[in-house]
Amino acid sequence: MLNTGPLGSGGIMVNYRCTAACRHCLYACSPTRDTGYVTGEKMQEICGLLRSGGCDGVHIGGGEPFLDFDGLLTAIRALKKNGINLDYIETNAYFVHDEASAKEKLTALLDEGADTLCISLDPFHAEYVPYGYPLRLAELCRQRGMGFFLWKQQFFTVLSGLPPEKAHSRAVLEKHISADYINSTANAYGLHFGGRAVNIKDAYGGRKPAAALVDAHPCRNLLSTNHFHVDREGYFIPPGCTGIRLPLEEAIRGIPEGKYPAFEALYHRGLAGLLDLAKQNGFAPDESYSSKCSLCFHARHHLAALDFAGLDRLHYEESLKYYD
Ligand code: SF4
Ligand code: SF4
Repeated sequence: MLNTGPLGSGGIMVNYRCTAACRHCLYACSPTRDTGYVTGEKMQEICGLLRSGGCDGVHIGGGEPFLDFDGLLTAIRALKKNGINLDYIETNAYFVHDEASAKEKLTALLDEGADTLCISLDPFHAEYVPYGYPLRLAELCRQRGMGFFLWKQQFFTVLSGLPPEKAHSRAVLEKHISADYINSTANAYGLHFGGRAVNIKDAYGGRKPAAALVDAHPCRNLLSTNHFHVDREGYFIPPGCTGIRLPLEEAIRGIPEGKYPAFEALYHRGLAGLLDLAKQNGFAPDESYSSKCSLCFHARHHLAALDFAGLDRLHYEESLKYYD
């Protein structure tokens, strides 16, 4: 059995569907993902497991949590019932286009004891959500006494000067900010290049021979419990290395040996172990990759397409969409 330590801070991803398809989205969310949302029953189960794993505080993210506001309230109530603190709720602020309804939502959240929003603001989001929306939502929070933080406020400076009430294409942002805005925004974030962000690394990261990237250092962060996520179906997603998902119960109580070959290969022998497994199953690596984690992503994509347990096939497919 492989065991995680006590759970640290984490997030619950209530859905995968989003109004945006940001090019840096670690979870490959988009408007074409399914509409499924965590149910009240599943939240009860997740909360019980989180408590047993020693977790007493989470944030709520997605996808876009506000796409099912009743579902969001149900999730908040489940946390409260189980004594789990809600640190904040993430949103891209899309719903502020209906200001009256947005005010009602803030009041309902405050009534449930949810008191802080993490509001996304950056050039990647601005390709889908007018950057004036997060600013308006911040102002509504201010008026209503709701706590908030803009993630990240520093990007307001680079966006200001553009019309705030509409989304802006890559071409417009390249002209207004710089031809390098994708790379510079990724660097300013300090992104982990997983999920859809793998495309950013592949486009801007330079290439190294595959053989030079491979080593056998175990990827022990796969069982790290700091900033882990749990998805709407109750799967544990390790921090950073998205596309790997294991039942939360097993992540807490012990992961059986032999059940998740790709996970085990990475955990014990790192990229070298994964590549051996992938090659045995028909993977032919390209000559060069932008990074070790990019090679890892593409090898896992190959294995996920063969339905290897513990790999989320949709994640890899969706990660390669929407980036242009
Ligand atoms: S980063 Fe957030 S807003 Fe953007 S696609 Fe992902 S979940 Fe949606
Ligand atoms: S090589 Fe793979 S498992 Fe290891 S840190 Fe990178 S993405 Fe995660």
